Amino acid sequence: MSKTISGIRGMNDVLPADSPRWLHFEAVVRDWLAAYGYQQLRTPIVEATALFVRGVGEHTDIVEKEMYAFEDSLNGEQLVLRPEGTAGCVRACIEHGLLYNQTQRLWYTGPMFRHERPQKGRYRQFHQVGVEAFGFAGPEVDAELIVMLADLWQRLGLTGLSLELNSLGDAAERAAHRAELIAYLEQHVDILDEDGKRRLHTNPLRVLDTKNPAMQAMAEHAPKLSDFLGAESHTHFERVKALLDDASIAYKLNNRLVRGLDYYNRTVFEWTTTELGAQATVAAGGRYDGLVEQLGGKPCPGVGFGIGIERLLLLTEAQSVSIPANAPDVYLINDGEAAGRAAFKTANALRAAGLKVVLHAGGGSFKSQFKKADASGARFAVVIGESEAEVGTANLKRLTGDGAGEQITLPQAELAARITATA
Ligand code: ATP
Ligand code: MG
Repeated sequence: MSKTISGIRGMNDVLPADSPRWLHFEAVVRDWLAAYGYQQLRTPIVEATALFVRGVGEHTDIVEKEMYAFEDSLNGEQLVLRPEGTAGCVRACIEHGLLYNQTQRLWYTGPMFRHERPQKGRYRQFHQVGVEAFGFAGPEVDAELIVMLADLWQRLGLTGLSLELNSLGDAAERAAHRAELIAYLEQHVDILDEDGKRRLHTNPLRVLDTKNPAMQAMAEHAPKLSDFLGAESHTHFERVKALLDDASIAYKLNNRLVRGLDYYNRTVFEWTTTELGAQATVAAGGRYDGLVEQLGGKPCPGVGFGIGIERLLLLTEAQSVSIPANAPDVYLINDGEAAGRAAFKTANALRAAGLKVVLHAGGGSFKSQFKKADASGARFAVVIGESEAEVGTANLKRLTGDGAGEQITLPQAELAARITATA
């Protein structure tokens, strides 16, 4: 026998035992997004490398060290497996003229790829639900997105998530702050670790985002962006907070929250949990009014967020959220050639009546078929043996719930009505 080939490190299979959790999540998410009027956008997984260098930022973790970038061996194009969804969403909107004189509320979902060290809640292929709104300059949509997430936690049965909030101001305010921050960091250069030194001049805000304990006090006393906000940014932020207060959403202001990506301005936020160790952020987002222009479109405000699906599903497990079972209604037991044909026909008739039916295939004793019926979680076993097949009847046995164990014999044609009548 030849050697087996394994999957790729950090890229997971979702097995049948876990897929009900995913399916349930996806169903909840669709209803949730429909409730707010968001429409789905589907873009390819592969994009041009340049899109992320320009759209995420050259000096970000993603672009510096996490991208699956490769050259198309057939035509030499520089490509990447997308590390995030916003840049591709903006690209598609520009390309198809979706932003011209109109607003858009959009969402997408799918795999993202980042070459990180795999651990619980951090993978090399992971999945996001992304939501982006374009053409809205005011604070309402910032608040809408945050409130939507609080609603999603409730729809999923999750509790205990906390919201952190900050405002990054506009480009000029950030530039003024940046200059002072760089001067401050230069004074403390001996405290900076390697990442800190590297980012001092490229992405100084990120230096403050450090997890290095030796740098905490220095970061704590650094010039605060909030002190640089002008009147408009200030008003915008105050109105976001007022709308959250009206919706009774609690938040913690965190003036060191800067987000990993370069393009944010004004509102930024993260929803975190204490139940997943270091992988604490389950959803994160903010406003990025400069990104559309940065990617070659006409200026157009944008605001959005990404949800890490694996982390959310881990949280539903940690909180023992019950997932609706995906069991069949009927397991159809049969034995013999004529019975097999009758069972095949009956299974299709029951499905046409809206029931979920597993047809036993491959023979075996009634006893072993009944074991499989029990294991399937089906509410009913329908048994068609040779004698039932001859006269057009079936044996209907209740397997679960009230009346489990009871059985009756009835015409095959009456099965659907009988089963449907029993909730
Ligand atoms: P982190 O600080 O945890 O690396 P990030 O700031 O890089 O997160 P974003 O780019 O904002 O993450 O992506 C949005 C969400 O996607 C994150 O909040 C997280 O829930 C999820 N996420 C990001 N990277 C991964 C990963 N490698 N594996 C699983 N989920 C991830
Ligand atoms: Mg990251």
